Amino acid sequence: MSHLVALMYHAIYADETELKAIPEEDKPYAISTEQFERHLEILRLNKIPILLPDAITETPSHGVILTFDDGDKSFHRHAYRILQKLGHKGLFFISTDLIDQRDDFCTWGELKEMAEAGMHIQCHGQTHRFFDDLTEQESSLEFSTAQKRLQEQTGQPVYAISFPGGRYTKRDIRIGKSLGYTTFYTSDIGTLNLDKAKQNEPLPRLAIRQSTSEPEFLKMASANSHYIRKETFKYKLKQLIKKILGNRLYHNLYKAVTG
Ligand SMILES: [Zn+2]
Repeated sequence: MSHLVALMYHAIYADETELKAIPEEDKPYAISTEQFERHLEILRLNKIPILLPDAITETPSHGVILTFDDGDKSFHRHAYRILQKLGHKGLFFISTDLIDQRDDFCTWGELKEMAEAGMHIQCHGQTHRFFDDLTEQESSLEFSTAQKRLQEQTGQPVYAISFPGGRYTKRDIRIGKSLGYTTFYTSDIGTLNLDKAKQNEPLPRLAIRQSTSEPEFLKMASANSHYIRKETFKYKLKQLIKKILGNRLYHNLYKAVTG
């Protein structure tokens, strides 16, 4: 097992007002600016490097890649500001249709500014629909429309996607590759495998939650093998339940339990 991991963040809030504005179902994944700054401090104290978003094929021995999903306003307001201050780079996955629709999301101007500062602005689909619910043609359109829009707006080549809800099939990897995508992030649990990354195979990430404690964060960031094994087991069990219930029912149930 490697000692390389990708961490998955969502919204970051500075105070109660910003926390209240985050949709209920996203709150378990939202963390405070203090928590985020503390994470970066833990990495520094433990000499765990924050890697460049595309450094994963360059054989580093250990380190973390910081990834952020969806496009919340706080990507620009907090994550970018904090990373920029410390000279770090992040990998931000954006659902392109939501940028024009939601005022709690970044604007294209903000994402462009982040791209110019060296942040990687990449694809989280066009509509945030789950790829394994889509037809082949719909999957292809999600990849290509988002890619075109992101390239137009940020000027960066689009090489990476994180699948909304972590949902994908082998078909979607094939379609993505045919459109020039080389990096496929999922929500599967695990450490990054360089050979898999080089072959453009799906890559796991570790999800940061509001409830993630500092000792737990250190286990994630240092790719603690006992921790990864335990989390993999829990994740597989959850996937099995999802499979039995179906996507929609699972998410309604999840909302009912968390909301
Ligand atoms: Zn998402």
